[in-house]
Amino acid sequence: MAGKMEVMNLDELLTEIHSRQLIVTLAGVLWSPNTHVPVKLRQAVKHHHSALLYQLYRRGDIRLCPARDLHRPYYRHAGQGRFVCDMCLKLDASIMEAC
Ligand SMILES: [Zn+2]
Repeated sequence: MAGKMEVMNLDELLTEIHSRQLIVTLAGVLWSPNTHVPVKLRQAVKHHHSALLYQLYRRGDIRLCPARDLHRPYYRHAGQGRFVCDMCLKLDASIMEAC
């Protein structure tokens, strides 16, 4: 296909982030100290920037949890195959309070 490159949808992006164990920072950028992040992933992060932050801070999606080993006990099923991290949600709440 010629022309514009297709951007992956948010769900695909979350799955990629999860399987590559990438970290999305507070600024909504990908952080990966040891691995190469493909251009199409970086583009998708740019594209879905605000949706990613929403997912990360308002919904606690475990695919964006930066501390899987530490937070695992706080994971819970939120229905429809979705898992949330209660610790991330709690941290989010205290960040919002501090603002
Ligand atoms: Zn977490």
